[in-house]
Amino acid sequence: MSTPPDEVVCYLGLGSNLGDRRANIEAALARLAQTPGIRVLAVSSLQQYPFVGDGPEQDPYLNGAARVATSLPPNALLAVCKALERAAGRTLPAPRNQPRQLDLDVLLYGGQTIDDKDLVVPHPRLFERAFVLEPLRELGVDTGAVPRLELPAVLVSADDFAARCSRWQRSGFCVGLVPTMGALHRGHRSLLDRARLQCDRLVATIFVNPLQFGPNEDLAAYPRDLEGDLRLCREAGVDAVFAPTPAQMYPAGFCSRIAVGAAAEGMEGAVRPGHFEGVATVVARLFALCRPQFACFGQKDAQQLAVIRRMTADLGFPLQLIECPTVREADGLALSSRNVFLSPDDRRASTVLFRALQAARAAFAGGERDRDALLAIAAAVLAVEQRAQVDYLELRRDGDLLPLPPGRVDGGRMLVAARFAGGARPVRLIDNLALAEAAP
Ligand code: AMP
Repeated sequence: MSTPPDEVVCYLGLGSNLGDRRANIEAALARLAQTPGIRVLAVSSLQQYPFVGDGPEQDPYLNGAARVATSLPPNALLAVCKALERAAGRTLPAPRNQPRQLDLDVLLYGGQTIDDKDLVVPHPRLFERAFVLEPLRELGVDTGAVPRLELPAVLVSADDFAARCSRWQRSGFCVGLVPTMGALHRGHRSLLDRARLQCDRLVATIFVNPLQFGPNEDLAAYPRDLEGDLRLCREAGVDAVFAPTPAQMYPAGFCSRIAVGAAAEGMEGAVRPGHFEGVATVVARLFALCRPQFACFGQKDAQQLAVIRRMTADLGFPLQLIECPTVREADGLALSSRNVFLSPDDRRASTVLFRALQAARAAFAGGERDRDALLAIAAAVLAVEQRAQVDYLELRRDGDLLPLPPGRVDGGRMLVAARFAGGARPVRLIDNLALAEAAP
């Protein structure tokens, strides 16, 4: 059947996994057919598919698709779908991945791609989902030929990155930012997952920042794996990856630096002069380019977090900082991109950092409150491991990490750094733990 010129052929996804699933979908189709501006042209068979998504298992879905011709613009068509979902008994807006009486999605709208606050067409994960692809194919759609919104979008130019974020900001999206140096692992993934929970658009940045490496550090050798990173970002639902070259990040003439104060003194700041100035400068530039509503950072880099917290407050960046807990291997080693460089012996020895911190935490839980006694307990564990050359072991005030005087402490965060030199190149590892943190 040909469509009048003012109509567009669209495909709607149909789903239900609550109540009388078939009746819910059939009622929605009947109402759809009565809606002015919509003609239902064809409906696929309804088949059962297992629930796909996060969270606890749910009853299987009944799924299908409908081909409709409509004179409604995309957002009006979406509004009709939402109204029908409500009519079927859904309370909207609803938390993600709840069982639902009715799910009506705009899958395809003519040949258009749409990237609006409420509507993304084609749905970015449409191509991975049998419960969408199979009904579409049954209706004769060549799913291989459908225009795709490739996600994540990979941006290398700072101007493109800023323009993309600013478009999202203007259309009212909540944008979440996760800055990284790449070689992504489960620790980074946890930040992305945390960010995904509360944003409409998720941005990850991958940039091995030369400003934060000293002349004798491992800038050239830092692990890089853009392809693997993009795969992980895609799995985590990242919308855009900003992966600039140093020249894009710091164009010719770039000479401004963020000077950092007390939070950057001692520990990493002492061992790596200029490191936190480089971190603060790149993070400030990322904040300025992206202007996110929030950004996620790991407690793994506790001093970095303290520096960024201070800088964000001092410079008045209007965003929320979200701290994410450290993700560890089963034996306690904190995940780090540099762990791949540990020799097998050093890898075994590396658990000493967490063991030392745990010993201090256990002593604190047992009532020890003297700063130096707590440090001595952790130091004794470290001393047994010959392969670890300790750079520092400190107990600082939790949060801003300012020094704690000797004597009684009510808590605090213990921080440690050590080198392991048994592999092809020396590896420096850091870790930290809040003494009051409950043991897992
Ligand atoms: P990096 O790529 O090392 O600059 O880290 C990027 C972000 O991931 C920082 O906010 C880190 O604190 C965080 N991160 C790194 N390792 C871990 C981990 N094991 N657990 C949680 N977050 C981490």
